[in-house]
Amino acid sequence: MAMLDGKTILVTGVLTESSIAFHVARLAQEQGATVVLTSFGRAARITQKIARRLPTEAPVIELDVSKAEDFEALAGRVGEHTDRLDGVLHSIGFAPQEAFDFMNATWKDVAPALQISAYSLKALAKACLPLMGPGGAIVGLTLDASIAWSGYDWMGVAKAAFESTNRYCARDLGPEGIRCNLVAAGPISTTAAKSIPAFSKFAQWGEHSPLGWEISDPTPAAKACVALMSDWFPATTGEIVHVDGGFHSFGG
Ligand code: NAD
Repeated sequence: MAMLDGKTILVTGVLTESSIAFHVARLAQEQGATVVLTSFGRAARITQKIARRLPTEAPVIELDVSKAEDFEALAGRVGEHTDRLDGVLHSIGFAPQEAFDFMNATWKDVAPALQISAYSLKALAKACLPLMGPGGAIVGLTLDASIAWSGYDWMGVAKAAFESTNRYCARDLGPEGIRCNLVAAGPISTTAAKSIPAFSKFAQWGEHSPLGWEISDPTPAAKACVALMSDWFPATTGEIVHVDGGFHSFGG
């Protein structure tokens, strides 16, 4: 029996084939799941094209996490393809370029980073709740926010809020039997990553990781997301699983 046999998964955040979410969708299908994708605005056309490169083409529905009306419509849009969700992947991050300059960024620069990269986890969980039940799992992606990084700035603050949001989601959805967990991935060369001005500084990550780290390989992080959505973590919630080659554990 495959890991996600019989499960239906909503996957946000597929932009290109390099997107971590693309590899979660791919592996989820390989593990027996039915997948529905979300995308937004002009990116949706690109996502539709990329969806054809999955083992099975997946439908794409509209979700811009900065729009309350999209969350209100989400259960209905998902409902056109499935009557229930067993898993939801939050793989969304955005901050305006100005937010990567900590001391000079204004609230106008910071607010969208917090809304799109942190608050959206709660909004997504709430919108999907009518389709979820006991055994359901929500999984998101973070870059370890327990420390400050060069060049990550307000995105790092947004990730700290995201990690806290995950714990509160776990608190409030635990009684419904729904688990909420994050994967703290090491750096992976994606569109979002390349928009981080200091991303090249992460190139040395592998040298400081006991297992090494391949910046062009999203599969280890994607595998962990699939595992967390499976029935093999039945008693884990509010957790952050590091998939970073061991970087976080190593003093050098
Ligand atoms: P990506 O650029 O492929 O994915 C980011 C996604 O966010 C895109 O699909 C984009 O369309 C979506 N998005 C942005 N604004 C949105 C909005 N308003 N509504 C809906 N979707 C929106 O990059 P990725 O690296 O695969 O990022 C996925 C997640 O992984 C992000 O949360 C990111 O912070 C996290 N992460 C990435 C890395 C890395 O090094 N790439 C490391 C750790 C965590």
